Amino acid sequence: MCGIAGACGVDDASYVISLMLKAMQHRGQEAAGIVSYDGSSFHELRGKGLVDEVFADVDYAKALPGRTAIGHIRYSTAGDPDSRESIQPLVAQLRQGPTAIVHNGNLTNYAERRSELEEAGAIFRSKSDTELFLHLIARARGNRRERLSAAFDQVEGAYSLLLMTPRGITAAVDPLGFRPLSMLRFGAGWLFASETCAFDLFRDDPRFAGAVSAPVDRGRVISIDDYCATAFTREAAAPSRHCSFEHIYFSRPDSTVFGRSANAVRERLGRALAAAGPADADLVTAVPDSSNAMAAAYADALGLPFRFALIRNHYTGRTFITPRQTARELGVRMKLGAVRDAVAGKRIVVVDDSLVRGTTARKVVALLRDAGATEVHLRIGSPPVIHPCHWGIDTPSRRELAAADGGIENLRLSIGADSLGYLPLESLREALDDADGSAYCVTCFSGESPLVPLGRRPA
Ligand code: 5GP
Ligand code: MG
Repeated sequence: MCGIAGACGVDDASYVISLMLKAMQHRGQEAAGIVSYDGSSFHELRGKGLVDEVFADVDYAKALPGRTAIGHIRYSTAGDPDSRESIQPLVAQLRQGPTAIVHNGNLTNYAERRSELEEAGAIFRSKSDTELFLHLIARARGNRRERLSAAFDQVEGAYSLLLMTPRGITAAVDPLGFRPLSMLRFGAGWLFASETCAFDLFRDDPRFAGAVSAPVDRGRVISIDDYCATAFTREAAAPSRHCSFEHIYFSRPDSTVFGRSANAVRERLGRALAAAGPADADLVTAVPDSSNAMAAAYADALGLPFRFALIRNHYTGRTFITPRQTARELGVRMKLGAVRDAVAGKRIVVVDDSLVRGTTARKVVALLRDAGATEVHLRIGSPPVIHPCHWGIDTPSRRELAAADGGIENLRLSIGADSLGYLPLESLREALDDADGSAYCVTCFSGESPLVPLGRRPA
């Protein structure tokens, strides 16, 4: 998973991008980068770490000048997490001129396409699936619309992306709409961002007064040239495949995602979880921050007190701060502490938004018991994750998924909870107003997508 941002027709575009990336830092903490265009050349800055680390002490006007820029924050789910060549934006010199790209999502036919291109002589610089777009666009013929269509027609999978050329910025979303992308138009300029929380930063800025954000619809390709927009729509498959995990975990609750409030969906999930898995307990608590809204709604629905029994250290990244298991385990300890005063002698329901490898759940149950809880009941606001995601959520192999094999009772025992309850898949679909399953991707929970051919099936 990653976050992308773009700005054109904006003074200090690179600074605006850095602010938007920081607002979306939850979408990726491994690396960050910005490329700007000042009317004559591209300027690039990228590195490993948080936005504040990569851009510490940067003089944006000098290092990244111009009124057009795009940026990226990285959470690698494809490619090599250690390679600097994979840090976006990627830039290439095409026949048509320099082109920079940022991309959120995973391509499912990357390996095949890459080897075809390599056999034909292409030289790849990175192991990032994003680079495929640059090769495909470079090889395509015709006008821009024809070239983009030809390139996009050859890739399968999830992509919300921004391309920057000296002419301007092009935004595109794949025909199934896996990942969110929104735009904001104001005066003569445009902003693009994975999440609308990035736009809210500018609500008091007179340049953006009255601007209204809109999603970039799936299958849409929108080009801004000299501050004029032209758009076309590629054929969009009948059902969409918006990622349900964006609503469950990934997006910030103050964002609007796929046209709905992320917070409202999480509250619905919490209420549905209360209906499906009530518990007899003294209090309900969240695993901050990702399950706060769900846990509060769960408590409300059951008339139980909600308390902060776990405290999060905000100066560490997310649990999966690096994609390696040891660092992830240390990350949980570094991140969460139990409030003995709130916990001792209490029967506690702890609500988390999801359970993937089970690392967090195990640690949380142990922390609460250690702090004196007499019972710990774990409730998960999404169904068991039984299948890897090939479109950008970090659940790569079935072997690592705690709920994939062995049954829920074995999982409860291994986590050490007094009870364990999950949200049923039908309740997730209802909370997303998608009872017939025609709008959202739930493959990680169902293992199947009966409505759309999956393309390459995982081994
Ligand atoms: P687990 O610890 O079971 O592997 O993962 C579940 C926990 O990690 C939950 O607290 C959830 O909020 C969070 N989580 C779920 N999916 C992801 C993901 O793709 N990336 C990151 N960074 N955290 C996740
Ligand atoms: Mg969490």
